[in-house]
Amino acid sequence: MIADTLYLIAAVCFIFALSGLSRAESAQRGNLCGIFGMTTACVAAYLTTRSGDFWFVLIAVISGGGIGVFIAKAVSMTALPQMVAGFHSLVGLAAVLISFSACFAPELFRISTSSGIKVLSLLEMGLGSSIGAITFLGSIIAFLKLQGMYKGHSIPTSLNTFFAFAICCLLLCFMLTESEEAFLLLTLVSLLFGATLIMPIGGADMPVVVSMLNSYSGWATSGIGFTIANDLLIITGALVGSSGAILSYIMCKGMNRSLWSVIFTPEPAKSVNKSTFDEPRTFKSGAPEDAAFILKNANSVVVVPGYGMATSKAQHALKELGDILKKEGIGVKYAIHPVAGRMPGHMNVLLAEAGVPYDEVFELDEINRDFAFCDVAYVIGANDVVNPAAKNDPSCPIYGMPILDAEKAKIILFLKRSMGTGYAGVDNELFYISNTMMLLGDAKKTTENIIKAMQ
Ligand code: NDP
Repeated sequence: MIADTLYLIAAVCFIFALSGLSRAESAQRGNLCGIFGMTTACVAAYLTTRSGDFWFVLIAVISGGGIGVFIAKAVSMTALPQMVAGFHSLVGLAAVLISFSACFAPELFRISTSSGIKVLSLLEMGLGSSIGAITFLGSIIAFLKLQGMYKGHSIPTSLNTFFAFAICCLLLCFMLTESEEAFLLLTLVSLLFGATLIMPIGGADMPVVVSMLNSYSGWATSGIGFTIANDLLIITGALVGSSGAILSYIMCKGMNRSLWSVIFTPEPAKSVNKSTFDEPRTFKSGAPEDAAFILKNANSVVVVPGYGMATSKAQHALKELGDILKKEGIGVKYAIHPVAGRMPGHMNVLLAEAGVPYDEVFELDEINRDFAFCDVAYVIGANDVVNPAAKNDPSCPIYGMPILDAEKAKIILFLKRSMGTGYAGVDNELFYISNTMMLLGDAKKTTENIIKAMQ
């Protein structure tokens, strides 16, 4: 009874945590709610275990918490997407392991009757193990790709269709026969399916993959919650599963792609990092002193941060520059593209870390009209998210993705190290237009030099 009440409190905390995390202003409160909910859940889990298992629970909580603290301190902000993918793989693995325990020791979970394991439990176990296995290996592949350790391979759609069909057959076979071999084979084929599903996905579709895996890990957890009759797992899994699915849908909308086309007709991974135009183009390059002069004479500046700001850790210098501009009476706003950086909310997190006020940060829909009226677009380490090819070139892989209209600003200051492409491997026409000034070099150093020149 006490444990059930604690589980309910934990579930409510998780709901508040999710709602808090949906906005930068309330994210800290949401995080605290999540921590409180998880602690309550651990206490409830302890109360429901047999007294002899106390040490197992304690060791699991302390070592898990310790590893969590270590990872949170050790992982850099630029490696967060990989870290998230890595964590999803662990959720998938946990679902597989619990399904295995339930399958091979059903008496521990009170799911067997005199005639064998209940059919519904077999379905839950099969689904939990299958989705868990897909999430496990899929997340590892996503981790390797985001870490730049694996570029990807194209996989024939027929192979994935075959795996999906085989999974359905094996699940049915397992439910009808309770065969352990069918269960093992189901898990094995699901592992392969997880790999072949993610291997061909690349370029602009990666953010959706990360949140899809998040969603899968939630459904796997929920499935396993039914098997072991744990209400909190069912609720938490459903929350994670549905929020991940909603996020995937929102991102697909943001990139003008359908969920189906992302998963089954993915854009191949790109590895190009140099200009792809047939002929050499001319561009205007400038020095930090030129940029300082332009900024000082502007009335309004819209900053477009991208992945390069994260890699160069330029957010603090950027905030300092923003403060100087504001002191000079120049309006400063920050424009965030939904897939800027390498994970949802990447730029918001970095700007919040640097102390940029929330009311200066705007989403694409809120700010896009402002570019036509602003004097300077300060594009710092962004590329794909301002690439007009997404509007003009039907043959380009990011065609149809809404972009920030930086090209409409009077002057565009483009901070990056080279004339190379961004994540999607598509060259950017914007580098070569007459009102763009390229400021080639590390984004942090360039911004610091602009600050020096302004002072
Ligand atoms: P891009 O990858 O398009 O461009 C980043 C640019 O930053 C590069 O062109 C690079 O150019 C520059 N850069 C890298 N390091 C530095 C540095 N130290 N100093 C200055 N510049 C640097 O990033 P965007 O944010 O514009 O777009 C995000 C892309 O990533 C989209 O294609 C999106 O689909 C994809 N993606 C997004 C995810 C998400 O969830 N947000 C997840 C996975 C992928 P150079 O090398 O010349 O310096």
